[in-house]
Amino acid sequence: MTKKVTQEAELKLATAEMDHEQAMVSFREGIKASAIVSLLQARIKMAYEAKETSLMCPAWPVDSWVAKLKELGGKAVPLSAEAGESSKSEERSLVVSPEKQQLAQIYDLLSNFEINDRGDTWERIGADSKEFSVGAVKRLLAKGNDHSSNFILEWCKWLPTKCNVFAWRAEMGRIPTTLALRNRNIYVEDVNCPFCNDREETIEHIFTACRTATIIWNFVSNWCRVPNCFVFSFRDLMEIHNHSGLNEREKTILNGIIIICCWSIWKARNEFRFANKPARVENIISEIKTGFYGLEVEQS
Ligand SMILES: [Zn+2]
Repeated sequence: MTKKVTQEAELKLATAEMDHEQAMVSFREGIKASAIVSLLQARIKMAYEAKETSLMCPAWPVDSWVAKLKELGGKAVPLSAEAGESSKSEERSLVVSPEKQQLAQIYDLLSNFEINDRGDTWERIGADSKEFSVGAVKRLLAKGNDHSSNFILEWCKWLPTKCNVFAWRAEMGRIPTTLALRNRNIYVEDVNCPFCNDREETIEHIFTACRTATIIWNFVSNWCRVPNCFVFSFRDLMEIHNHSGLNEREKTILNGIIIICCWSIWKARNEFRFANKPARVENIISEIKTGFYGLEVEQS
């Protein structure tokens, strides 16, 4: 008896599941058909309106859209002549040339849109691979970027990495001068140059325009027997060895000396800021010589 009742219950459950599945299929089909009907109605309306403004595209298969709409049982779209006066007046108001152009562009975009019975899927555009990869995204982001005018710092192999990294960051404006800190809303009491106290402390000022910097570059010119260094930016400093008339080995040494100078200027600035040590140009020059000869001894 119990077995019979169980079998009946299972049968009822299976029937209910089948009915539910059938209902869901009909529901999905209904939604899909109504979406296609709406798209077709919009497209036919667009074609009728375009015809009125002489922007009708000859490639539009309006008759087949109408036939498909009829097949799906959708409500027919009336011709523009039959439509209300309000829509006509709106259309007639589109006499300004840019508006007409925009309308034509919209019609072109819609004309390339194909309606089919396939289900919608997501597709990634712009990448060279269907599969997601970081490399593909990187290539997509970099596409069209022109890096040919970017400055590339010449790495000085005989200097410690910290000096090269400092020069690289300074050239990009990424060292924490007091003005840079203040611009990032960090409170700094005194933003003036620690050497001359006459101008704000910027990269350009402390490495090129300040009196201390000028004395140091004059010293470098005499020491290395190269023409006077006239520099206006940190990048000029990093490129000056290329215009010194020296041979390749001497150019590398001059480039290294200039980076040591910049490092020593920044070190003196930090000692003034954080240890109240007076920033004297003779101390900086002495530091430059010590740094250079110290490295030379390490190399030999
Ligand atoms: Zn200064």
